[in-house]
Amino acid sequence: MTLDPATLNVAFILLAVVLGCLLLFAWIINRSVRALSLWGAAFCLIALGFGVANLGRTAGSYPALLLGNVLGLLSYISLYAGCRAFNSRTGFVPFMMTGVVLWVAAFPFIYDKPEYRLILVALTTGAYSLACAWELGRHAVQPLASQRFAIALLCLLAFFNFMRGGLAISLTSIAWIDAFAHRWSSEMALFLVVYTPTLAFIFLSMAKESVELGYKRAAFIDPLTGVPNRRAFMQNAARLVGATGGKSVSCLVFDLDNFKSINDCYGHDVGDDILVLFGQILAKHLPNQSFGRLGGEEFAAILPMEMEEATKLAEAVRSAFSKAGKTMLGPQTQVTVSVGCSASASATTEALLQEADLALYRAKDHGRNVVISAFSLTNPQ
Ligand code: GH3
Ligand code: MG
Ligand code: MG
Repeated sequence: MTLDPATLNVAFILLAVVLGCLLLFAWIINRSVRALSLWGAAFCLIALGFGVANLGRTAGSYPALLLGNVLGLLSYISLYAGCRAFNSRTGFVPFMMTGVVLWVAAFPFIYDKPEYRLILVALTTGAYSLACAWELGRHAVQPLASQRFAIALLCLLAFFNFMRGGLAISLTSIAWIDAFAHRWSSEMALFLVVYTPTLAFIFLSMAKESVELGYKRAAFIDPLTGVPNRRAFMQNAARLVGATGGKSVSCLVFDLDNFKSINDCYGHDVGDDILVLFGQILAKHLPNQSFGRLGGEEFAAILPMEMEEATKLAEAVRSAFSKAGKTMLGPQTQVTVSVGCSASASATTEALLQEADLALYRAKDHGRNVVISAFSLTNPQ
């Protein structure tokens, strides 16, 4: 089979334009992922740059070669800015322009030396590709499977670019290496024709996965404290209670003491900060996914352990909160929590919560800042 490089070039240009427009369209219908606009622009720019550089090469026009490669480099810059924007970082930073500045500064000296032009462009685009992969790997804000795939693809692009530069450096007299290094071979065009839609598809998958994760977070995470909300807690608890295998499960219900007066004294914002603080203390002392905010200033936990062990954890939370509250609002302030505790090897989550709630009422009656279990009382400090 003979592949005609010129035909493949045209195919690549058309493909890149169509994919760029599709990415831009995806951005228009969901503006929350700004990276899509930058990636869409990158695909359109590479098509434009590739077309102009090809015209320059065919017509022997140096200004067209200069401009075509500038557009190509801007495309990589847009790709990198998209990766940064995807990670919620500033899209454009001035140092990104280094590649363009180098190319424009060097062009008057190398315009008639194809191998040096190739080395410079290949090394610069390889560096940009690596920067994209690094950005997606190092600064990822969400654990997305498609993002890991994108990193591998961008490393492959870096390898492709460095290889072209490396081959040009070797400038051997071996015919096939020469052909590969100097000219745009049909194999390279074919690689890009296959590679480009794969990258665009992965970018779209990343955007989709990230939006879905955002919706999931909104549905299951309490926006103020960042801990699981009532719905997530009830789901996690039902899973845990259903998998006890006859072993005891404990339930803790936490209610912050006199919280209304804290709001009244210090303001609602300080009240919010205290709720956040309590969420952090729960996260520090209890296993992941075992607790949640039931609503207002009430939290709960379901723990796969005997009552005795669970009350020890509750006591650790109670004591840590009392200390942290004093640090936050001053040593005279009482920022405390009361805890009710229940346990059973066979009860439902609702029954466990009900029993822990009754113990919590007793904790309030005992003067608050105390852990009360269904049949014992631990010492308050
Ligand atoms: P007790 O010790 O008996 O539990 O008294 P309490 O004041 O904590 O209980 P009460 O039910 O009277 O008041 C709960 C308060 O919690 C009232 C409400 O304004 C406050 N609250 C509920 N949700 C939030 C919230 O998201 N932020 C803030 N700042 N306050 C909240
Ligand atoms: Mg309450
Ligand atoms: Mg309360």
